[in-house]
Amino acid sequence: MDLHRNLIDGEWVDGEAIANINPSDTNEVVGQYARAGADDAAKAIAAARAAFPAWSRSGLMARHGVLRKAADEILARKEELGRLLAREEGKTLAEGIGEAARAGQIFDFFAGETLRLAGETIPSVRPGIGVEMTRQAVGVVGIITPWNFPIAIPAWKIAPALCYGNTVVFKPAELVPGCAWAIADILHRAGLPAGVLNLVMGKGSVVGQAMLDSADIDAISFTGSVATGRRVAAASAEHMRKVQLEMGGKNPLVVLDDADLDTAVDCAVNGAFFSTGQRCTASSRLVVTEGIHDRFVAALTDRLKALVVDNAVKEGTQIGPVVDQNQLDQDERYIAIGRDEGARLVFGGERLNRETPGFYLQPALFTETANAMRINREEIFGPVASVIRVKDYEEALTVANDTPYGLSSGICTTSLKHATHYKRNAEAGMVMVNLPTAGVDFHVPFGGSKGSSYGPREQGRYAAEFYTTVKTAYTLA
Ligand code: ADP
Repeated sequence: MDLHRNLIDGEWVDGEAIANINPSDTNEVVGQYARAGADDAAKAIAAARAAFPAWSRSGLMARHGVLRKAADEILARKEELGRLLAREEGKTLAEGIGEAARAGQIFDFFAGETLRLAGETIPSVRPGIGVEMTRQAVGVVGIITPWNFPIAIPAWKIAPALCYGNTVVFKPAELVPGCAWAIADILHRAGLPAGVLNLVMGKGSVVGQAMLDSADIDAISFTGSVATGRRVAAASAEHMRKVQLEMGGKNPLVVLDDADLDTAVDCAVNGAFFSTGQRCTASSRLVVTEGIHDRFVAALTDRLKALVVDNAVKEGTQIGPVVDQNQLDQDERYIAIGRDEGARLVFGGERLNRETPGFYLQPALFTETANAMRINREEIFGPVASVIRVKDYEEALTVANDTPYGLSSGICTTSLKHATHYKRNAEAGMVMVNLPTAGVDFHVPFGGSKGSSYGPREQGRYAAEFYTTVKTAYTLA
């Protein structure tokens, strides 16, 4: 099997071969990937530094051309890339293809943005002087990504970084080197100059840490756990570098008595369990008013019973496996904690055996839970959701906001008054009305409040806040 190597300064560089294992079939090796070390990280950072002056001053058409070519290739290959994604991460094939398409659309969006760079010219308060405000590239950007969106998250960080003229050191999560390598390969062949994008597939504690410790990285964009996010922020403060963190969520979906039951159940099934619940925007807390509670739980349980949990690439699969043994252990640990805390497991939570050996877990639903329970405070990151019964809208809003996180917050209601009040008062970066908490557009800002995010928003035109720095120039005319 070919070894997929790291990309440093325009060259493919060897490293210890690590097998990429399919969580739907642990006998299957998706590919062999070279593990980078701390010295590779240092070389990659130096290459990105050396490439920065020329790339940041390259013509707009050079940047547009590369991003455009990458977009076209990703979109043309979305089925193949989606299958690779499903095989290495365990999302269903449909979800994998959807995510690959999204990556293509993101590159397409930022290809367009290269041609829309603009500044402002205004008069000075002092007569005879002009003031110009322009956006400039930040410099060398470190990009550290998690395993749950193996192609979309790298795309939504790499595309704006390159669009605005930065150079990149990209460290993907160890579990999903396949999609990361494919993006690097596509951009390399699309004509990126040497050193502009460097791929270092290594351990967080080694390569990631080497990036945090480097004085030569100007900005780090990170998505992952709160614990690692804290380290990224602390190390970045030490080096006075720009930082953007996307971390966890414990997202509420409020269901009010006046909700359309089918809509509410659809939102809960999709938001809590699709992608095996492994989304930072997953609705792990279902906050339900008492008038609809029993009907909602009965209808949701019926839907869960009918969900097909199987090999991610098999026709008809709705829920793929959990990503690996560690995550499965964590999910099972939380299911045990929930039971010990007195929550009622009304469905699921059992390990499942399928034709191929994989990390299959039946979606789990708890009822009779209190918001103070650990299963409602801590991010589980699996196909596990809790129902929290509340009296009325006011209590629902209080419970929804009573969390250290604030990424996405949803409500199902037919009341305009409650929907409007919720949009204004939900403590979250994103609010969904009659829609799942997960599933967002690629051309608008993504990010949260409180413990979920730190630094400027990602995606859409707001990405410029992080990937550029503003220069103010004065001219005596
Ligand atoms: P998850 O629970 O999603 O794996 P992590 O925060 O552990 O979350 O991982 C997210 C990304 O951060 C991964 O690419 C991982 O390798 C990286 N990472 C982990 N530890 C460190 C570290 N000490 N320094 C930098 N990056 C790290």
